[in-house]
Amino acid sequence: MDIKGKVALVTGGGSGLGEATARRLAAAGAKVAVVDLSQERADAVANSIGGVGIAADVSNAEQVEAGFVKAAEVLGATPAIVVSCAGIGTASRILPRDGSLTIDSFALALKVNLLGTYTVLNIAAREMAKVDPLDDDGSRGVIINTSSVAFEDGQIGQAAYSASKGGVASMTLPAARELSRFGIRVMAIAPGLFETAMSAGLPDDIRAEICKSIPFPSRMGMPDEYARLVEQIVENSMLNGTVIRLDASARMPAK
Ligand code: NAP
Repeated sequence: MDIKGKVALVTGGGSGLGEATARRLAAAGAKVAVVDLSQERADAVANSIGGVGIAADVSNAEQVEAGFVKAAEVLGATPAIVVSCAGIGTASRILPRDGSLTIDSFALALKVNLLGTYTVLNIAAREMAKVDPLDDDGSRGVIINTSSVAFEDGQIGQAAYSASKGGVASMTLPAARELSRFGIRVMAIAPGLFETAMSAGLPDDIRAEICKSIPFPSRMGMPDEYARLVEQIVENSMLNGTVIRLDASARMPAK
């Protein structure tokens, strides 16, 4: 599907992978709705790319619906490109030293990362299904979700995060199969370690250790490398129903 002239909606667009995606899609000619928890951050990115900033919590269906309405109103069409980057990184052992239960932090990871991604997908699919086909293939849209390499090789402390990202990865094929009759593609990207606010807190020694273990290139990914994959997925209609690891062949060790 061509990007030029399309409306795109990017969640988590005020920071990191989402911000890079919003910028790249805008540079390729899309009109972009930047959705984030913070109106200020969403506006900062949106204003610099001629888009619209929208404050919404992705785990709140009413706020997401309002975001889609605003995006269509301001940008002139239902989003045909929807990229879910909103997410939280959680780290907690199942059995912490203080003996407490960790059910609440598990539920929070699922609420934001899995339910939030599903909420955006559900509303995006419903809105996309109403529009006329946009190209000769009969495409009505493409939805790209963000999983993580932790969906396959989660480390100690990542049971909740891995479960949430595993859900995002696992829904890709059934969603693509179901939505194919509307001409809507569904893909997921599973990034390795990328240079964003989420990874900024890593101590230097751990960062160096992780980079050493990445076969090639032995460094963290840059947000625009994620955004470039989004661009290629949108443009290549044969990409559908699968999860792409973007990880320089890294396999995370147990800890
Ligand atoms: P980031 O820079 O922290 O960006 C994530 C953005 O999502 C932040 O602006 C955050 O706002 C926002 N957000 C959090 N909860 C939200 C909610 N409920 N509703 C709407 N927005 C929300 O992190 P990132 O590295 O770009 O992460 C993007 C995605 O990639 C995440 O799903 C993450 O799990 C995944 N990922 C990242 C890496 C990595 O190494 N960076 C690796 C694998 C997967 P606040 O800052 O206010 O919370």
